[in-house]
Amino acid sequence: MSDAGGLGGGAGGVAATRARARLGRAHYFPEATDAEWNDWKWQFRHRITDLEQLVKLIPIPEGERALRREVLRDFRMGIPPYYLALIDADDPDDPILRQAVPLTEEYAWRDVGDEDPLGEEKYSPVPGITHRYPDRVLMVISNSCAVYCRYCTRKRIMYEDAVPDMEIDRMVDYIARTKTVRDVVVSGGDPLTCSTAKLDSILGKLRAIPHLEIIRIGTRVPVSLPQRIDAELCAMLQEHHPLWVNVHFNHPRECTPEAARACDLLSRAGIPLNTQAVLLKGVNDSVGTMKALMHGLMKMRVRPYYVYHCDPVRGSEHMRTTIAEGLAIMEGLRGHTSGLAIPQYVIDAPGGGGKVPINPYYLLHYEPAQHRAILRNYQGRIFEYYEQVPDSELLRRKLAAEQQLAPSAGPVALTSSHGGSVAPPPAAQDVASLAAPPPVVGKSTWAHRGRQRRDAP
Ligand code: SF4
Repeated sequence: MSDAGGLGGGAGGVAATRARARLGRAHYFPEATDAEWNDWKWQFRHRITDLEQLVKLIPIPEGERALRREVLRDFRMGIPPYYLALIDADDPDDPILRQAVPLTEEYAWRDVGDEDPLGEEKYSPVPGITHRYPDRVLMVISNSCAVYCRYCTRKRIMYEDAVPDMEIDRMVDYIARTKTVRDVVVSGGDPLTCSTAKLDSILGKLRAIPHLEIIRIGTRVPVSLPQRIDAELCAMLQEHHPLWVNVHFNHPRECTPEAARACDLLSRAGIPLNTQAVLLKGVNDSVGTMKALMHGLMKMRVRPYYVYHCDPVRGSEHMRTTIAEGLAIMEGLRGHTSGLAIPQYVIDAPGGGGKVPINPYYLLHYEPAQHRAILRNYQGRIFEYYEQVPDSELLRRKLAAEQQLAPSAGPVALTSSHGGSVAPPPAAQDVASLAAPPPVVGKSTWAHRGRQRRDAP
């Protein structure tokens, strides 16, 4: 289990705050000039793609190299210098390293898991499109990423070839023909590894479809290659509004000044940013790390959106947690930080079932007929809650009848089920305070029941 680690240090800053760690640009790439370092094409060209390059930068035991090399025959590696500089070379359990560097466990688990765990191919009417929900589609426009994440759900499509223009035109044509589609997620691979001109052309074709309302881009580039987010890209993107960007951050150490700058540029282009993290063993599987990540994102104006349970893609078993571990993390967030900082924990159901929200149990008991619920709060305290006055018309008649029997009681002014002379419902009643029932205004079945608070089942 990883701890939160340093926040916001950047590749150089992390090195500064962790004086003895061997990491940062100055450690790995002392010869790189500022112009090179800040040029995303230089970063992309200088990605670490084979083990021979990697062992010169990060110590890898001699005895593990053959297995790790074998892993790369199956699923490629690509680590931009910027992202590599976040790795502490002396920590074999570094959370950034675990995401990007092939481990021997990946070899051990190579035959376990699915090639296509979400059944995307099954729901693909034309190559590159996954149409699972009625009103939205996934559109894969790239087979390439800046960094190749070892747990990637779509590792099956990651090969060198770019997606041909003809294939992209067929995807656009499908969306244009399918009038129920109002929302498209442009993904990959990473769409922001495409040239600005190519992306502009694809977004322009999508924007020309009258029934398409929303375009979303899924990307990890602000995390792994933030230099790619520049003024030219943002100027192009803002021509295609309404456009949303979902970014994929997993660890607070990814929330660097460089990433913050990239997110700021996108935000200033009017693009709402949401994050989609993946729950990963040894990376972010603790409350402290997840909370630090969400707080780091909030500071960059990135809204926590989803935390995905890691998909059972082949070769990733060592990175998967149990659902109980995920629930414990969500428990540790709810009530312990602002609601805005709490993403929805989801499992993508196998074979194409879609996203299923997974929540700790806060609604312990619910009787719809009685309009009664038993709730548990973040401290584990139990509350009895009445959702509404059960039948206000019936109540009105009863009160009117009682008034006739006792004419001195005066008129009953019942304006709504929650108002008038009837006490408001006990919205959240602390079972611990049962000895002190609220004052009852007006005698009603409902008010009477409010006094008869019961213990939680
Ligand atoms: S950036 Fe996304 S698509 Fe690319 S390897 Fe990572 S998880 Fe997969």
